[in-house]
Amino acid sequence: MPKGKAKQTELIEQVGADGLSLLAALHSPEAPASLRQLPRVQTLRQMWIQQYFVDDGQVRRRDLKDRPPGAERLVTPYDTDARGSVKRGIFWDGYKFHLTEICEPDSPNLITHVATTDSTVQDVRLVAPIHAHLAERDLLPERHLVDAGYATAREVVAARRNHKVNLVGPILASTNWQTKDGGGFSQADFAIDWENQQVTCPNGATSSRWTEDRSQEGTAVVRARFPTAACRPCKSREQCNGSNNKSDMGRRITLRPQAEYEAIQHARAQEDTQEWKEQYAHRAGVEGTISQGVRAFGLRRCRYHGLAKAQLQHQLTATAMDCS
Ligand code: SF4
Repeated sequence: MPKGKAKQTELIEQVGADGLSLLAALHSPEAPASLRQLPRVQTLRQMWIQQYFVDDGQVRRRDLKDRPPGAERLVTPYDTDARGSVKRGIFWDGYKFHLTEICEPDSPNLITHVATTDSTVQDVRLVAPIHAHLAERDLLPERHLVDAGYATAREVVAARRNHKVNLVGPILASTNWQTKDGGGFSQADFAIDWENQQVTCPNGATSSRWTEDRSQEGTAVVRARFPTAACRPCKSREQCNGSNNKSDMGRRITLRPQAEYEAIQHARAQEDTQEWKEQYAHRAGVEGTISQGVRAFGLRRCRYHGLAKAQLQHQLTATAMDCS
C-alpha cells in the first residue's frame, strides 16, 4: 500500500476508533440516558454505523459496497441533508443547483426558476416540478432547452401533454451492443406496426408475440418476440441476436409506449439537422449564466448548512444575477 494511502487509512480508522470510544462512553451505565437522545449524538451514531464496523476488536472502515446507498449516506455530521455524488469523474458533497433561464433570441436572459436538491437526485426528476412551478406563475416557455440529463422520452411526452412545452435536448443513445458497436440490428432497423401490434425485422420476419408489461423500474413497456423458427435459420442471427447458437430462441425487443417511442425517433432525427443545432445553440446562454454563478457568485460553495439554507442561498444568488 502506498505510504500516503496507508497514512490516510490509519487516520480514518483512528477517527472511527475515537467515535467508538465516544459512543461507548455515552452508552455506559453511568452516562445520563438523555445524552444519547441528543440529535447530534444520534447523527454521530448514525454516521459511525454507516462508515465503520468492529472486527475482532479493531475498528474498520466499511467497503463502499457495504455502505448505504448515496441517497441515504451522510457525508458530514454537520449537515445531515448533504449527500455525496459524482458526475463525469468529479466528486462532490452537498447539493445540486438547477437553473431555468429564458433562452429566446429577442428576450433578456432572465432566470425564471431555481431549484436545489441533494446531490443524488437525478436531473430528470426535476423536469415535471419545474414545469408545474413555472405554470403556476405563467412563466412556461414554448420551448425549453435542456441538457442531456433532463431530456428523456417520457419527459418530452409529459411536457408536451401537460404543458404544451417543447422539451428540447439531446436524447441519450441506446446502450445496447447493437447500437454501440454500430454493426448490429438496433431498434431503429425494425418497423413497428402499433395498430396491429406487430414488429417486422430487417429480414422481413414478423414478431409472433406482443406483450404490454412493466420494466424493472416499473415503467410501461411493450415486449415483442420473434418466432424461433424464423430466427434459427436466419443468416443475420449473429448481427441481430449476438449469437450463432442454433438453440437460441427468437430475437426479443423491448419498446417504450408508442408516444415515447415516436418522441425518441423524432428527437433523434431532429438532432442531426442544422435547424436543431442552431436552435439548441441558444442554450449556450444558460451555460454562461452557470459559469457566471460559479466564478463571480461562488455557487460551488454552500455558505450554510442544510437544504433549506442552501436553497435560500441559491435563490438570493439567482436574484442578484438577474439584477447584475
Ligand atoms: S434473427 Fe430473427 S429477428 Fe433478427 S433478422 Fe433474423 S429473422 Fe429477423
